[in-house]
This record gives sequence, C-alpha cells and structure tokens, in this order.
Amino acid sequence: MLPWWRGSINRFLEQWFPTSCARCGSLGGSPCSICIGQFVGAAPIPEIPPLQRVAALLRYDETSRPFIADLKYHGGWSVARGLAPALAFLLDDTIGANKPDVVLTWAPTTPERARHRGFDQAEVLARELAHRSGHRVQRTLRRLPGEHQTGRNRSERSQGVRFVSVGTVPEAIVLVDDVVTTGSTMAAAAKVLLGAGAVTVLGLAVAATPDRLMQ
Ligand SMILES: [Zn+2]
Repeated sequence: MLPWWRGSINRFLEQWFPTSCARCGSLGGSPCSICIGQFVGAAPIPEIPPLQRVAALLRYDETSRPFIADLKYHGGWSVARGLAPALAFLLDDTIGANKPDVVLTWAPTTPERARHRGFDQAEVLARELAHRSGHRVQRTLRRLPGEHQTGRNRSERSQGVRFVSVGTVPEAIVLVDDVVTTGSTMAAAAKVLLGAGAVTVLGLAVAATPDRLMQ
C-alpha cells in the first residue's frame, strides 16, 4: 500500500495555506487563471489498440509541463484538483452518450518509484477525478518490477511494462494517466484488463505529447 497519509496531509495543509501556481508562482490556484488561458488543447489521439478510445486534455508543451512535473515529482494534489473539473468534462465526452457505469483506474508506476516518491501520480489523478465526477475509482492493476519508462523508445517500452490484474475487474474502465507519449503503457494495461474481464477500456490523460507517434 502507498503511504496515503502523505497525500492526506498535503490536502489538509492546502486548505489552510494558499496554493501557488506550479508554473508562474502566483497565489490562488495551480494552474492559475493566467496559465489556464495559455494552455493549448491536445490534438485528437489516433487509435491506441486495444483501447476503444483515448483522449487528452492538453498539449504537452512548455505551458503544461510544469504542472505535469508538479504531479509527477511532488504529488501535486492542488494541480490534480485544479484540472479535475476540465478532466471531468472530457471524461463525459469520452464515455459518450450512453454513459455506461465506468470505473476509473490507473496504470501504476513501478513499485520502486512509488515507494521512493511516496505517491503514484496517476492514482492521485484518478482519485481526484473520481471525487469530482462521482464515478467509482478502483485499483485494478499491479505493476511488476521492471525498468523505468523515461528515455526509452517505443519497442523498449512495450517490452518493459508488465502488469497483472488485481481483484474483480469491472466491465467498463477508464485508465487515467498524466501524460500519453507512445501509448504503450496504456496499451499494456488495457490488454491485461481485457484479459481479466473488462469489455471496454478507455484512456484519459492530462496531456499528450504532439510528437507521440514519431517516437
Ligand atoms: Zn500560473
């Protein structure tokens, strides 16, 4: 289990101390309204089989990068909370008109990395989005120890990520993540979920790299 007390303390403190924007440092929220105005929306994401559909909120660029870094390296609860309303809209759009009873989940980071940082940024995002959207959130995957993703190419990545399912896997799942790069992590996670009882797996990310398919 991750030491969730750490996230809880952060959330408690943020209620009493003003939050500064992870990019420009101004007080009041992260992202602040000025930085929100400078965000560029992510381009539509081409198919990442076996996921049925994948959507991202922002283009991963110099404006969105500091917020992703805050999530990734500092467990930025304020960023997760700041982006949750927009992500909830995108979630509705991604689920589509039928609105099946989807369950939010995440592809966990490596156990070593989660232990070292004390949180898993994808889990932080999924839980905050669940809180905002009213959808259920459930841990469905465990990542087996292996190499980290940063700095590896597409084929190395797909070979390096291994998951196993945990507990009863719901039929309709949305995988929540911070950044979609090649999509190989999401694809590996979706494959395991579909093999363990899921019927539909969708993907939702805060940001997508524009050169994703050239990697
Ligand atoms: Zn700002």
